[in-house]
Amino acid sequence: MQHLVRGTAAAFVAMTAACAQTPVTPVTPAKPTVVIVATGGTIAGAGATSANSATYQAAKVPVDKLIAGIPELNNVANVRGEQAFQIASESFTNEKLLQLGKRVSALLKEPGVDGVVVTHGTDTLEETSFFLNLTVHSDKPIVVVGSMRPGTAMSADGMLNLYDAVVLAASPSARGKGVLVSMNDDILSGRDAAKRINIKTGAFGSQWGALGMVVENQAYWFRAPVKRHTMKSEFDIDTLTSLPEVQIVYGSGNMSPAMYDAAAKAGAKAIIHAGTGNGSVPDYAVETLKRIRAGGVHVIRSSRIADGFVIRNSEQPDDKYDWVVAHDLNPQKAKILAALALTKTNSTAELQRMFWEY
Ligand code: GLU
Repeated sequence: MQHLVRGTAAAFVAMTAACAQTPVTPVTPAKPTVVIVATGGTIAGAGATSANSATYQAAKVPVDKLIAGIPELNNVANVRGEQAFQIASESFTNEKLLQLGKRVSALLKEPGVDGVVVTHGTDTLEETSFFLNLTVHSDKPIVVVGSMRPGTAMSADGMLNLYDAVVLAASPSARGKGVLVSMNDDILSGRDAAKRINIKTGAFGSQWGALGMVVENQAYWFRAPVKRHTMKSEFDIDTLTSLPEVQIVYGSGNMSPAMYDAAAKAGAKAIIHAGTGNGSVPDYAVETLKRIRAGGVHVIRSSRIADGFVIRNSEQPDDKYDWVVAHDLNPQKAKILAALALTKTNSTAELQRMFWEY
């Protein structure tokens, strides 16, 4: 027995000595995989000199060069890039939205992909982020990002915005929160993020506030979206093939009601009235809109005011006229939801339900 114990102790000493000589391989957790789908915009822009912060060409730099310019991304995730388009975002069309949405959906179905970042021009970033939020059925993070200054400018903002977007897309904490917008350290909901100034780096905001912030490779959360999105949405990018025409008519003093007729004549199935104040309609335009609704085109009252929300049956008797209100969605967001809603229904009550729920 004593011999055995002695033998065991000797073996232990020998083993410990052997271990001390064997180099220890650290066990590192597998890095998440993030795909950056690039569409152009200022984040891929280039100016003639470093002083050109506002005069430059958007959509010039390819995605691989953007990724190579931020070696720190390698510490966060395995990152690969895809060039979907190379355009300024004012040139987005329904076809491009559908194409982008289908690609994002397909990527997120790959088991090896943990999150997707979409780089985008800031002009219509709010439309694309809302569209993806309404149509892509995945709880993996989808982060839309842009910049206000090209990468060639002094104090360019694209590098940190893109780094933060990858941090978010790689973060399990971002799952199930709908499409996110990463701009100027803020995490915003793709549903209500909007471009609110055309010149500063702090261009994006939401009247309901940011969801959180990214600081030094870490996402900090303070709020969560309550409206239906992604997994809980009744709209599905994988089955969509086209979107009906929806147009916006802008309200102002002395506006011309002929604009509504022009939109209907151009094939609009719904007209978003970007009304003054509470989505108000001038007394001399009411009959035109009633006639247009009687002709089968939906009338959706939004507001040209950035904040607040349109109250149903207040400025106008919506029930009586069979009109819809856009709730807190700005006209361009209302346009996206209206187009999707019309792929499902032609009922005013159903359209209004969707505007309350999304
Ligand atoms: N108008 C261009 C675009 O939306 C540049 C604006 C920007 O990206 O900030 O792509």
